[in-house]
Amino acid sequence: MLNKNHPRYQSLVYRDKIVKAHENGILADSGMIAHGRGETFDYLIGEKTTDNSQNTIDVAACYFLTSKNPVLSVNGNTTALVSEEIAQLADLLDIPVEINLYYRTPERIVNIEKVYKDLGVKNILGTDDDDFIDTPDLDGPRSPVSIEGIKKADLVFIPLEDGDRAEKLYALGKDIVNVDLNPLSRTAQTSTVTIVDNIVRVMPALIKSVEKYSDYDNSDLQEKIDKFNNNVNLDTAIHDIIKRFE
Ligand code: ATP
Ligand code: MG
Repeated sequence: MLNKNHPRYQSLVYRDKIVKAHENGILADSGMIAHGRGETFDYLIGEKTTDNSQNTIDVAACYFLTSKNPVLSVNGNTTALVSEEIAQLADLLDIPVEINLYYRTPERIVNIEKVYKDLGVKNILGTDDDDFIDTPDLDGPRSPVSIEGIKKADLVFIPLEDGDRAEKLYALGKDIVNVDLNPLSRTAQTSTVTIVDNIVRVMPALIKSVEKYSDYDNSDLQEKIDKFNNNVNLDTAIHDIIKRFE
């Protein structure tokens, strides 16, 4: 039982979700380590959504609303922490969820598929009976992408992703929206839009933002996108961390 009075209760709740996902065959061993790296950066960021992060979330919402074929790519960590919100966003935008794992095994695929099925997601791609094509110049089991999903997509949401894959998808001319607490990671540095924030705070905020911006004209969305510069965003995120040391 987690002690609700513990000063770091929220952090313990998410650790618990990570441990349970590992026990349930959803998360690979290294996923637990990746979570620890994320926690470190969250500590430095102050465990809050900064103004800069909120603006970046709004820009991401504008991208979702102006793209033709967006896809939500999910892995073990994302599923462990925010599967409900992923299902909500997929429903809101009427877009597919594609499972893509660095350490892909048939068991993990089935377990993750079940999570999204139980949440009512209609279009789940990347399962073992899907049709795949390799991502050029990318090795390993995360290279194959669904022909109906990421292959066709103009926008790919890849939270908590590895840098190699982000680079190769970006090289295909796709817009990449990424969530990564580490503003220095290769994924953060190569994405079109990098939300430097914890996925557990980002997903509810992103859903709200998509709801808000869905009433806007396309030209207003495009204006918000055009004003955004990911290098400035990353610079601001890094300076927000530096300020915490002053
Ligand atoms: P890269 O391959 O992009 O250079 P990396 O090798 O440091 O990065 P990976 O293990 O490949 O990192 O990917 C995990 C990333 O996800 C890390 O940068 C980590 O900070 C981030 N991360 C972990 N948990 C969360 C979370 N809850 N919210 C947002 N980001 C997270
Ligand atoms: Mg990596």
